[in-house]
Amino acid sequence: MLTEEASQGGEEPPDPARLSALKAFQSAGRKFWANVTDADWNDWRWQLKHRITRLEQLERLMPTLTPEERAGAVLADTKLAMAITPYFFNLIDPSDENCPIRRQVIPRLEETDTAPWEMTDPCGEDSHSPVPGLVHRYPDRVLFLVTDRCAAYCRYCTRSRLVSNATGYDFHPEFDRQIDYIARHPEVRDVLLSGGDPLLFSDEKLEYLLSRLRAIPHVEFLRIGSRIPIFLPQRITPELCAMLRQFHPLFVSIHSNHPRELTTEVRAALERLADAGIPLGNQSVLLRHVNDDVTVMRAHVQKLLMCRVRPYYIYQCDLIAGSAHLRASVRRGLQIMEGLRGHTTGYAVPTYVIDAPGGGGKVPVSPEYVLSRNKDRVVIRNFEGRIFEYPEATDGTPLFKGVPPLNESDFV
Ligand code: SF4
Repeated sequence: MLTEEASQGGEEPPDPARLSALKAFQSAGRKFWANVTDADWNDWRWQLKHRITRLEQLERLMPTLTPEERAGAVLADTKLAMAITPYFFNLIDPSDENCPIRRQVIPRLEETDTAPWEMTDPCGEDSHSPVPGLVHRYPDRVLFLVTDRCAAYCRYCTRSRLVSNATGYDFHPEFDRQIDYIARHPEVRDVLLSGGDPLLFSDEKLEYLLSRLRAIPHVEFLRIGSRIPIFLPQRITPELCAMLRQFHPLFVSIHSNHPRELTTEVRAALERLADAGIPLGNQSVLLRHVNDDVTVMRAHVQKLLMCRVRPYYIYQCDLIAGSAHLRASVRRGLQIMEGLRGHTTGYAVPTYVIDAPGGGGKVPVSPEYVLSRNKDRVVIRNFEGRIFEYPEATDGTPLFKGVPPLNESDFV
């Protein structure tokens, strides 16, 4: 061990009282819908039917609407529709202009500002689509877009060109062609259903789709990406879970950004999925004044583990047109990763990634822990900034043919 202290370490410990308040599980309540019966409130179709989609509804429920939000709500139908489930709306604090829930779902005028480097398809999905609704970018897996509808719309959505159809993209997946492509490509062993939100489908429709995919012998692994457990936990019914468990191995990736989204209702919904044997991961997007803070993120990842969800990715917010007011810096993202790794359970530490603009795929970004290396030694630092030296091993003869030999450029 070397004794020198690295300058990157030494982060302030989080305020315990703040951390514990953020980690408390609370019900979303129903302050705006006190007269609704339990049967209606717990019915996911009732929730969808009563979504907040118009400025008049928003003004009635939230007299504290700012001029920027009012203008954003008027313009939303030309860019990405506004829709918020009553359940999720209850999480908004109307007295706080910077409420982290409010910022994610209430449109703002700033969405009309577009920088030259922003794009409508920042991940280059359309250019990697061999058939409509199927993205084949990585060698052994595909993204299968099933719908353009979501329970609520996130103002930073990377697929806002498509979801809600506000821009007239007119998305029409062709399941037969999508499934036929997968069947003809034996290298595809992993299919991720996304959209829009696949869990908006009826149980019957989703079962039909999953059965067809499961019937393809080379498809080993199915995944569903969904924000429904967060926006509409009522949808996670025992019947849905019983249907899903027929298709193992099936993983579900949820999308939660802030500890306040993890309510008692959400925790119960996630437990139903976990009890059906479905491994759960979470994807967060790093958002300015939502979760770009070490204490918030630490509370979030720890709370996810308590919901039996493994924090999987933190995404740097894509360069989606009109999202600059929600994007936090990479600098801040790295600072957050520095405050997680070593400071909390390893299972709670997600991978921070940037989806390379234009379609380069996910690139992991991380604080530097390898300070230098050569053929004899690797110099590393730990989460406290202490520096260590690890003597390099020799590799011997590769076990398998085709392993490229090491050369001088492998020694930095
Ligand atoms: S739930 Fe997902 S697909 Fe739907 S608006 Fe949010 S980020 Fe986009």
